[in-house]
Amino acid sequence: MRSIMDRRNFLKAMGAGTLALAAPGCMDGAGPLTGRRTRKQPNFVIIFCDDLGYGDLGCFGHPTIRTPNLDKMAAEGQRWTNFYVGASVCTPSRAALLTGRLPIRSGMCSDRRRVLFPDSAGGLPQDEITIPEALRPQGYATACIGKWHLGHLPQYLPTNNGFDYYFGIPYSNDMDRVGGEGRNAFWKPKIEYWNVPLMRNEHIIERPANQNTITKRYTEEAVRFIIKNRHRPFFLYLAHNLPHVPLFVSDKFRDKSLRGLYGDVVEEIDSGVGLILKALRRAGLADNTFVVFTSDNGPWLTFNEHGGSAGLLREGKGCTFEGGMREPTIFWWPRKIKPGLVSDMGATMDLFTTILTLAGAEVPSDRVIDGLDLSPVMFGAGPSPREVMFYYRGAQLYAARKGPYKAHLITKPAYGKGKAVHHDPPLLYHLGHDPSEKHDISEQNPEIIADILQEIVRHLEKLEPGEDQLAKRIKKA
Ligand code: MG
Repeated sequence: MRSIMDRRNFLKAMGAGTLALAAPGCMDGAGPLTGRRTRKQPNFVIIFCDDLGYGDLGCFGHPTIRTPNLDKMAAEGQRWTNFYVGASVCTPSRAALLTGRLPIRSGMCSDRRRVLFPDSAGGLPQDEITIPEALRPQGYATACIGKWHLGHLPQYLPTNNGFDYYFGIPYSNDMDRVGGEGRNAFWKPKIEYWNVPLMRNEHIIERPANQNTITKRYTEEAVRFIIKNRHRPFFLYLAHNLPHVPLFVSDKFRDKSLRGLYGDVVEEIDSGVGLILKALRRAGLADNTFVVFTSDNGPWLTFNEHGGSAGLLREGKGCTFEGGMREPTIFWWPRKIKPGLVSDMGATMDLFTTILTLAGAEVPSDRVIDGLDLSPVMFGAGPSPREVMFYYRGAQLYAARKGPYKAHLITKPAYGKGKAVHHDPPLLYHLGHDPSEKHDISEQNPEIIADILQEIVRHLEKLEPGEDQLAKRIKKA
């Protein structure tokens, strides 16, 4: 059953609140109606990679990929080592980030199809509230640059989900395949093998998209948006299509990395991060902008050298072992965030709640929001409120973590490999002592398992799954 208050009512309510706030005497002379910045409104930038592994950055231990800009960003900010995504594949992970909710609630996950495809008829339901939809009534300019993958039909596009502006490929860069032979096409990828569209707002402006220059162009678009909106608060969601296979890179970075083409791609993304932070500094916005860097899911391990690495974490994309869902995450906000290493838990869903709170927007109360406010950790005021994490594969709960302990009810290896195995009693790992999930300690700890099972029961009892959006297909004429 859907929540009582739909998105339109929420936005109406937010708009009314905004009008009241903007009345004379209630604000510092600028605000939502004028689109200028009120004193305390920070900007937000989320840089979201595709299939980047936990171990793929210099500052997360990669021995040969050089990421000086991200390393510096991490040194100036916070490096989160227990930061999760809401699902281990693209579509549900993105839905979780933008709505602050487990994808099972919005119907953006499925046991029938794992992500949306070019023949999909579904997308992010209209009654979901996205970060930009909540920020826009607060006077924020909003842009989505890059991969969308929450529905490519007009009603589902970013411009219908709270974003003023969209520039990017609306789904994965390996879709619309029209050429090349089998997997060989990936080892020497050519632009013409994947007929993916590049869109500006609702229009296709290039097809196939020239993927060699896509990372560079996304960065340029991001910098342009920042400069253009420097006098008003903004939310920028930059979702790179790479390093998802097929790998493409611009000439400047080709054959430069010690890690081959995959390293070239990550090093180009790193360079782009450097340009974005530089633009923020030059525009005088660094001290007022919260920047997050992370990835949508773990590395696609079956693509050999073209897939990334989860470092010491087990498995990768598509599964509920840590390598599938724990991401290399950096928070940056000079002179605001307390720099350091954070081993507390956090999740992309928490960005929803954290950002809305920092912006002075109301966190919706008419529905279950899974996100929690991470600002105590950011500002050094206290521990993370996140103590529990649920791991779904498709629409099924496979595992749960509470504190350092993680119990697996079901396991299945990474995307494209192996069968599901049910565990009774569940497998139990201490992720502090055993981050690689190698040593099952279930036998010695029945009371810990019982406690986690109670959390699971409480969670499932109240769960109302949304209608499956991923199974819907466009009817053939
Ligand atoms: Mg992905």
